[in-house]
Amino acid sequence: MDIIVCVKQVPDTTEVQIDPETGTLVREGVPSIVNPFDLNAVEAALQLKEEHGGTVTVITMGPPQAKDALKECLAMGADEAVLISDKDFAGADTWATSYTLAKSVEALGNYDLVLCGKEAIDGDTAQTGPGIAEHLGIPQVTYLQKIVKVEDEKMQVERVIDGGAETVEVPLPALMTCEKSMNEPRYATIKGTMKANKKEIPEYSAQDIKADPECIGLKGSPTKVKRVFAPEKKTGGEIIEGEPKEAVQTLVKKLQDANIV
Ligand SMILES: Cc1cc2nc3c(=O)[nH]c(=O)nc-3n(C[C@H](O)[C@H](O)[C@H](O)COP(=O)(O)OP(=O)(O)OC[C@H]3O[C@@H](n4cnc5c(N)ncnc54)[C@H](O)[C@@H]3O)c2cc1C
Repeated sequence: MDIIVCVKQVPDTTEVQIDPETGTLVREGVPSIVNPFDLNAVEAALQLKEEHGGTVTVITMGPPQAKDALKECLAMGADEAVLISDKDFAGADTWATSYTLAKSVEALGNYDLVLCGKEAIDGDTAQTGPGIAEHLGIPQVTYLQKIVKVEDEKMQVERVIDGGAETVEVPLPALMTCEKSMNEPRYATIKGTMKANKKEIPEYSAQDIKADPECIGLKGSPTKVKRVFAPEKKTGGEIIEGEPKEAVQTLVKKLQDANIV
């Protein structure tokens, strides 16, 4: 089974701030990590390979430093990694991103399964996986939590739905987006890390993946962002000291004075 896993390098979101002047993310000095859901997708791919044979290839669309994310996946046990990088990809929205990744999957050739994370913890749209499937014209299963059975040219899998789970059968090739509950991603071994550091990571440009210049980057992005801003910080509030009875009376008076009750 040949599997392609799409991984995204994301900033550690608990530390990300928005520049109030420019409305852009402040990335300087912010550590980058592999999107956590994508590690579940890599783990799922490695388990499938262990059971059924085949290859695991990880791809990411991003700047040169996104190679670090690919190296982490290689150290976990992925066989190959490809960086999809070109200045013409800059400013891509989810449509242009999923188009670019779909063209990259096609450029890689034969595949049985494409795995993505459920969503990226920075962009949070969960649109890229389904978008790739649409561009490729293959079936998709979102919110995957369990692989039930793999047969010749189909898979039976379980996906999360509101208040339960749904078992579906899907013909291959297909695309699936992975939930955190699916598995516990393995740690990279020292041997794996040494091997990953030596591994050459090819870079594909827009031309290499035969992308239509009208469909990539800002030019190919139908979404136009009007404004980005951080929500206003709430003020500290007021603590009313004293015995509960008097404190409640004071509170009610304050609410009445403010025309709230
Ligand atoms: C108008 C506009 C301009 C933008 N300009 C930029 C820009 O200049 N630079 C920039 O970094 N972002 C830019 N973005 C954000 C960018 O479009 C999204 O980060 C990207 O489309 C992925 O969407 P998401 O983060 O919501 O991921 P989701 O859709 O939530 O991700 C789901 C899954 O898709 C896969 N995936 C997502 N992104 C990638 C990727 N890059 N490589 C491999 N797999 C991936 C992963 O498996 C991930 O778990 C822009 C967005 C808009 C709307």
